[in-house]
Amino acid sequence: MQIREFDMTTRRELFAGEVLYSQGEPSDCAWLIESGAVELVSVHGRRITRHGVLRPGELIGEIGLLDGSPRTDTATACGDTVLLAIEPDQFRERLADGDSIVRALVDSLLRYKQSVIASLPADAPLPAEDVPCDDTDERSGIEKIRLEAQLRDALDQGTLEVRYQPIYDLLESRVSGYEALVRWELPGRGAVSPAEFIKLAEETSLIVPVGEYGLARVIDTLSALYRTGGSEPLPNIALNLSARQLVEPGTARQILARVQEAGLPAGMLKLEVTESRMLDYAQVGAVMRHCREHGIPFALDDFGTGYSNLTHLHQLDFEFVKLDQAFARQMFDSDRAMTIVEAVVAMAHGLGAAVICEGVENARQLQRLRELGVRYAQGYLIGRAMPAAAVLSGEAARAGAEAVAGCIPALTM
Ligand code: C2E
Ligand code: CA
Ligand code: CA
Repeated sequence: MQIREFDMTTRRELFAGEVLYSQGEPSDCAWLIESGAVELVSVHGRRITRHGVLRPGELIGEIGLLDGSPRTDTATACGDTVLLAIEPDQFRERLADGDSIVRALVDSLLRYKQSVIASLPADAPLPAEDVPCDDTDERSGIEKIRLEAQLRDALDQGTLEVRYQPIYDLLESRVSGYEALVRWELPGRGAVSPAEFIKLAEETSLIVPVGEYGLARVIDTLSALYRTGGSEPLPNIALNLSARQLVEPGTARQILARVQEAGLPAGMLKLEVTESRMLDYAQVGAVMRHCREHGIPFALDDFGTGYSNLTHLHQLDFEFVKLDQAFARQMFDSDRAMTIVEAVVAMAHGLGAAVICEGVENARQLQRLRELGVRYAQGYLIGRAMPAAAVLSGEAARAGAEAVAGCIPALTM
């Protein structure tokens, strides 16, 4: 399967006086004003009505998008203006996934609007569909739509970055792999945490292109590692995938096809699946089985936190369990905290999985985890997420090994 290209022009720049859309045109897209201003004017016979000027952070044209009615006014840029396109699907998906009562209310409001318009005399000016807003709830909704549109733009421009955090193998005393973590630098806002934008992307089908983007970058990095690997044991890279992504039709097929096209040996690409989002265990289990039969190992992410459902765990096959960083952070807080870490590690081992502990920040944690039989450690002690170049040059692995070697005296004390 082909990686779907994001070919939509998501950003539009207008000069002063340029028309965004004209009255009577079909409503095929809504817009969010990034900078500048847009004036709305309608013409009915000889009468010209000025409906006002919309400014940055405001939406234009969303109502027409919902009910498919033609533009009721002409939108013209007042000065140099930048807009982000909002695809019809962004609204429709949210509505379709939303509460059925809210859906019914929106439908009924749209019908009401159409009946009011139909009852007006033919030459009456229509009310503008866009009015400036000051409502904070609406503002926070718009902020979300804005972030979503900017994420689309970032995908379009290829400005998301995938970084790689080293994972240290305590048995073989080397960095044996990396976790791919996506990063988004937003101009004017700084780094947006994947914790925020992955959640947002998951609320719509945007998670599909985000996932495809991550997969493509990881396959590129793995291919380069494979080509230049020599006789060294090849490192693996783990890609994060929510259970929702995993069961999305075509995802597993696409991942397997990409691995095959690149000719990667089994085990080089790993998948990390977040347990908290596994809703249909039978379905997730079937996809996981299919992938692992084709040489893709699985790690169960954030084990022991969130919505872990122990009664369904036996339905899933996984080679690795990732202990959430909360365990490493709290293990020395009390005997009870340590008992829980020991029990979770024992359970993972009992299920036949190797344990990767996240959030390892100091030598004391590393030492205790090693005593418990934990095989892999990941965290700032070993290294932060680094650019692909540091993985390809071997620098990330060297730095990780040196950091662990630096605490060997402490470990053997
Ligand atoms: P995660 O999979 O649990 O990733 C580990 C997070 O812990 C990362 O945050 C990482 O930077 C951070 N971390 C690593 N070592 C340490 C440490 O020693 N101390 C502390 N305090 N934190 C540490 P990040 O990169 O912000 O990622 C947040 C979450 O976003 C990830 O959690 C993962 O669930 C999700 N994510 C990241 N990239 C992707 C992606 O490509 N696809 C999907 N579906 N989710 C992703
Ligand atoms: Ca992860
Ligand atoms: Ca995790």
